[in-house]
Amino acid sequence: MQIHPLPAFADNYIWTVHDGQRALVVDPGDASVVQAWLAQHRLSLDTILITHHHADHTGGVAALREATGARVIGPTIEPMPEPLERVDDGDTVEVLGLSFQVITVPGHTAGHIAFFLPMLEGAPLLFCGDTLFSGGCGRLFEGTPAQMHASLARLSALPEATRVCCTHEYTLANLRFALAVEPMNDDLQRHLVQCESFRQRNLPTLPSSIGLEKKINPFLRTREDAVCRAARAHDPLASSDEVSIFATLREWKNVFR
Ligand code: ZN
Ligand code: FE
Repeated sequence: MQIHPLPAFADNYIWTVHDGQRALVVDPGDASVVQAWLAQHRLSLDTILITHHHADHTGGVAALREATGARVIGPTIEPMPEPLERVDDGDTVEVLGLSFQVITVPGHTAGHIAFFLPMLEGAPLLFCGDTLFSGGCGRLFEGTPAQMHASLARLSALPEATRVCCTHEYTLANLRFALAVEPMNDDLQRHLVQCESFRQRNLPTLPSSIGLEKKINPFLRTREDAVCRAARAHDPLASSDEVSIFATLREWKNVFR
């Protein structure tokens, strides 16, 4: 099995998995990117997985289904290009002989889901859409801070070796914000240097891992003293419970330049 991100639009990734013949793609916002890749590698598209309804994740679904007859699997409570198989928390979906577990992660959108594969060639794999980014998290368009905080806590509890496949290359901007929150975090400083060098060579900074994100991502570190202090220095009115710290960080990030 090969796992590979296809760049699309300005900063999206369409994640792909294939066995040399059949492929699955996650969140194909742009059909032409996927079709060119399928042709280049002589693959047939078996399945499309969708994490949430935003157009940059679903815009290519209708054209790809039309061209390939691929099966489409997406969240239960989101507006979606029909027809599709709707899946919910705790469901298992079998794709290319792999068993993905569905985890609902509301926050960015109301019905956002993630797909978790407990083991693939040595490590677990997570397709988390716009919920968890490397060094950051998605904006709260439809959910509350409490929902997003709980969703991130579920992802954070996955095995540390889990490869985290996010759908945007937002890492550098996220890490610069993370450093404003935790300037003394050595892991963060080191990771920023490494990611800068990846981006200079136009390489993806992903996948990340749950273990790494727990060390560098302020949105998974709302229990850390340094993060808590920085959030309360930014907003002295914030209370010290984890959800308030999370909400303060999210609002701070929204205006951070
Ligand atoms: Zn989105
Ligand atoms: Fe997106």
